[in-house]
Amino acid sequence: MKRLAAVAILAAILGPAEAGHYVRHGPAEAGHYVPRDIPRDIPHDIPHDVPHDVLHYILHAQQQDDDAAPRNSAPLTLLQINDVYSTLPVDGLGGLARVATLKQQLVAAGRTPLLVLAGDFLSPSVSSSVFKGEQMIAALNAAGLDLATLGNHEFDFGKDVLLRRMSEARWQWVVSNVIDRTTGRPVGGAVPYVVRTVGRLKVGFIGLCLTTSEISRGNLTGPRLVEPFAAAAQYLPILTRQGANVIVAITHLTFADDRELVRRFPEIDLIIGGHEHAPLTVTENRTLISKAGSDARWVARIDVDRRPNGAVERFFELVPITSALADEPRTAEVVRSFEDRLSTDLEVVVGTSSVPLDAEDMWVRTSETNLGDFVADAVRADAETDVAIVNAGGIRGDRVYPPGPLTRRTLIEIHTFGNIICTVALSGRVLIEALNHGVSRLPAASGQFPQISGLTMTVDPRGPPGDRVRAVRVGGQRLDLNRTYSVAIPDYLLKGGDGYTVFAEQRVLVDPEAGHLMLDALEKYVAMRGSIGPAIDGRITMVR
Ligand SMILES: [Zn+2]
Repeated sequence: MKRLAAVAILAAILGPAEAGHYVRHGPAEAGHYVPRDIPRDIPHDIPHDVPHDVLHYILHAQQQDDDAAPRNSAPLTLLQINDVYSTLPVDGLGGLARVATLKQQLVAAGRTPLLVLAGDFLSPSVSSSVFKGEQMIAALNAAGLDLATLGNHEFDFGKDVLLRRMSEARWQWVVSNVIDRTTGRPVGGAVPYVVRTVGRLKVGFIGLCLTTSEISRGNLTGPRLVEPFAAAAQYLPILTRQGANVIVAITHLTFADDRELVRRFPEIDLIIGGHEHAPLTVTENRTLISKAGSDARWVARIDVDRRPNGAVERFFELVPITSALADEPRTAEVVRSFEDRLSTDLEVVVGTSSVPLDAEDMWVRTSETNLGDFVADAVRADAETDVAIVNAGGIRGDRVYPPGPLTRRTLIEIHTFGNIICTVALSGRVLIEALNHGVSRLPAASGQFPQISGLTMTVDPRGPPGDRVRAVRVGGQRLDLNRTYSVAIPDYLLKGGDGYTVFAEQRVLVDPEAGHLMLDALEKYVAMRGSIGPAIDGRITMVR
């Protein structure tokens, strides 16, 4: 147990590239991942733009493809992706057209690959705020996805959009614990389990989605969520009765829940998991648990075989998705067509502004501006919190937007980062500490300057840094240092961005997994009102 905890921590500390190395060589049946030493001479055929930290994986891949490598006789090759929000590469890694090529190369090599997605892909992203996930379904259809289960983000647009997306997909949905209340069957025509025969293997799959508060508020009406362990208890015996000799759980659970699942159901040979965004590969007892990072920057390749004595073998490799894999043309075409449509859709007028909106850095980063008020108000309205704090550095454009139509493109210009709105519970004492951090660099303009909503304050820029904020009122009432307030912030600040270390130790009410895109909140705020005309209302008073 201690060792597994250490693995998880190592994964967190070392980051994605190193994490995949920490596969325990457990009992023989637990699988092979025994790369030889990395050769000193790097082969010539590795492209120059392959990031150095993924080189290990490429070399390991080549070693496992040696003629005598035992995985070459494994009947089934599972290709795992999870938590994919982009159809295109992100910082040079990923891209669904490359993933499609990887699968086709394996087919061409005579192998039987199944491409499996362990949830979280319909949202959030700028594209999804326009297409509501349609672009992901189309690209994954083209890429040849075979099996998928649901993650919490599949519920982001509500039940009706989810059902539409599920019907557009050409792959098999395996969803054991999200039940349509009217039919009593899994939602959207999914099956609760499936058995596939591949050579001498009879592989049974179940699919489990987390059921906790990560699923966006308000989007739980409709389907009934069954506790994942209860669903596993219901369907795993059926797989066994149907003669499955390899059991795979496709899960979108926390790592802790995956481990609990394995403890309760040791018959599971392999967990293809999601939710966490760092590649993670461990064996818990005899089960291999794999998470393949995010955005298809890696694909976990797991070749599966059974020995004559019945032991299940799993050969693991984390394949970096680099430019060494050419784009598969059909998938690339689908991706491109949505990108083209995206640029058209960005011209859609969301509403109008009756006043000029001030996004000039020199003002947004030193004082209240009407645009800062608008952004912070939209964030607070979306999160339904007492207070919102938005770092001025997250408000872009550095210009005055003239009155008139507000397009999606303008809103993206105003907030380009794709931040997600999180909610933390802060005491009045910590809230004032956060505000003091925000104004600590005045009179210098800085990204940490707080644009705020739900509160008023007086700031003395000449006071000692850390003690410049006075007369704070929340919702019109004097700040109570000991009261707890709900505070909406961008996920960037939750992670300590712009020096906001103050949030690290605080209780998180809505984390980045569950929150909405800031961009969506801006669009919703404008669209609901049709026209906005924010005015500086004196929520930040400067002592001159
Ligand atoms: Zn998730």
